[in-house]
Amino acid sequence: SVDMDVLEFDPSKINWGRSKAPYRFLVDTFVAIEKTTSRLKIIELLTNALRTIIYHDPESVLPTVWLSSNAIAPSYEGIELGIGSQILSKAITSVSGVSSKTLKQYYDKYGDWGDVAYTAKVSVRTLMEPKPLTIGKVFNTLCSISKLKGAGVVDQKTDLVKKLLISCKGEEIKYLTRTLVQNLRIGAVKTTCLIALAHAFCLTRPTNMIISEPLDDKNRLFVEVNKESRDSLNVKLKAAEKLLKECYAQFPNYNGIVKCLLEHSIEKLLDFCHLRVGVPLRPMLGEIIRDLGQVFENHEGRLFNCEYKYDGQRAQIHMDANEKVTIFSRNLENMTERFPDVIELIPQICLNNVDSFIMDCEIVAIDSEGTIQNFQTLTNRSRKNVKLSSITIPICIFAFDLMYLNGESLLRKSLRERRELLRTEFTEIKNRFTYVNHIESSDPEEIHLFFKESIEFGCEGIMIKVLDDSPRSLENKTRMNLLASYEPDKRIKSWLKVKKDYIDGIGDSLDVVPIAAWYGNGRKAGWWSPILLAIYNPDTETFEGVCKCMSGFSDEFYKELKSRYSQENGNISQHKKWYFDVDDSLRPDAWFEPSEVWEIKGAYITISPVYKAAIGKVDRNKGLSIRAPRFIRVRKDKNIVDATTCEKLVELFYKQVKERKVEGINEESG
Ligand code: ATP
Repeated sequence: SVDMDVLEFDPSKINWGRSKAPYRFLVDTFVAIEKTTSRLKIIELLTNALRTIIYHDPESVLPTVWLSSNAIAPSYEGIELGIGSQILSKAITSVSGVSSKTLKQYYDKYGDWGDVAYTAKVSVRTLMEPKPLTIGKVFNTLCSISKLKGAGVVDQKTDLVKKLLISCKGEEIKYLTRTLVQNLRIGAVKTTCLIALAHAFCLTRPTNMIISEPLDDKNRLFVEVNKESRDSLNVKLKAAEKLLKECYAQFPNYNGIVKCLLEHSIEKLLDFCHLRVGVPLRPMLGEIIRDLGQVFENHEGRLFNCEYKYDGQRAQIHMDANEKVTIFSRNLENMTERFPDVIELIPQICLNNVDSFIMDCEIVAIDSEGTIQNFQTLTNRSRKNVKLSSITIPICIFAFDLMYLNGESLLRKSLRERRELLRTEFTEIKNRFTYVNHIESSDPEEIHLFFKESIEFGCEGIMIKVLDDSPRSLENKTRMNLLASYEPDKRIKSWLKVKKDYIDGIGDSLDVVPIAAWYGNGRKAGWWSPILLAIYNPDTETFEGVCKCMSGFSDEFYKELKSRYSQENGNISQHKKWYFDVDDSLRPDAWFEPSEVWEIKGAYITISPVYKAAIGKVDRNKGLSIRAPRFIRVRKDKNIVDATTCEKLVELFYKQVKERKVEGINEESG
């Protein structure tokens, strides 16, 4: 909600003269962000920084957004800075005169390239004051670095990095270096940036913009700060936030979004930045259910599309009007080059009328007889520059949704309509392209049989999807409005997933993030063990400690983990960051920079005084923990924000209590 600081903040008071937004200004914001542990405060700091830049130097808004989100382009464009320790250490040595040996000592001490560069350069006296760096200059140089290719690239990159480092003053060097190694460490992740951007454009407009709403002489929307204006402003901010998130879910590209915000308004966003071929949308996701009976509790008589849940790789296939095909992963990475067999196939499946489309499907490995293989088999295919002639593991595409067809977004259409188009506009090819095996049913018995069949067939389970929007009558009765539309980036009850694991009651599989570790003892000396795992709280954007895990790992894995999380990689730290919600009594030897998702299974969920996962949600002062956790695998296809949420954990806890008829077992400690 809006507080006085935001309302009172007046961007016009900041004076940069006639110059462009200085990099120093952004760095001061980063410093302030790093010092706070409150997410609201972080949003406010970023909002006010953006407002100042919108007001004085609109051209620097986009560079600011990219630099704050620790990227220079959308992930699907695959643009990399490609700066490793070799280039950095060469550049720092050269501008500071500090030997590479000393640099290494600094690194062992700090474990962070930013601190290393800062310490190395702080003692250097320069004869001439460098010209102040601007945000635009930093961003443009990074873009130039990313474009360098071919012979001599290391020297060219080192040169550009050196130039930037020479122009840095004070703390600028620390954050610039962190940006160069893509580890900004301010914890302003995706949602924070989106919210700040929405708030900033709600509260301040570029001075040269013609606006219909009356602003006061300081370019603010509201003159009087009273309760009423604050309430209505809150409503406005929330609406802007929602719109920006909706827009980002189907068009995750700040280049387009910021351009539209500067030239038009938030309200116009979706007119310009919407689903489009070539830009991956964030996929719709399924809610877990453990008990098929649960499906019908609120939905008696409702028809569902029940589909096999194949165990392969999710793929979003785009084809534009020139028949150019692009394939994106669940994480929106461009994986086109991995599937030349898919590219070859696409023109053959399109019937005459198809001119462009976006399709959601699962790519599954099959054998020569067409029998589906497990996920592991698919991962055995090579990942880079795959040649059609060298493919030894064939695949089949199981299509389950169509989001766009011939220039038109289908997101608002019902699954029934989308499914119809998928089946009439495309043609099946045996063992290569097919619509997912499915039944349409409202009968629990029938669905149960279908589920069993899916497991026998080699699938993970089934997806149960709402086919049509709720009729009014049902909506009133159940107070639940289930949408049959395609909802990007949402995990809602319109898509339910039933997996064998859940039904078997082996224990729930959870997706957790490794966030810290202790030094191992005995046989495990020299490795990380145990490892502290966390679930994700999307409301606070924090990782809440849930258990220590020390089983299910191979020695190979331990070794790899030790080199993956290391001083050299700059992704461990001695200090607990604001985005870790972990009790002070747990004192790990190192904190990991959250970066991967692990699937684990546990015996059961307990109430815990030590772990803060879902704290206050089951017991006022206690959190939840997982007993006997066992590592299953790394989920490369998931982002850290896709980890199990606290809400989900609570739900699983109550379900377990109900099923086992046990009071949530109280445990003493981790
Ligand atoms: P999981 O951990 O179960 O793979 P997830 O978080 O990756 O889940 P969910 O939306 O929860 O994604 O589950 C759906 C996943 O199952 C999709 O991402 C997709 O890869 C796969 N899948 C297989 N068959 C289907 C289908 N018929 N409909 C939707 N998704 C399917």
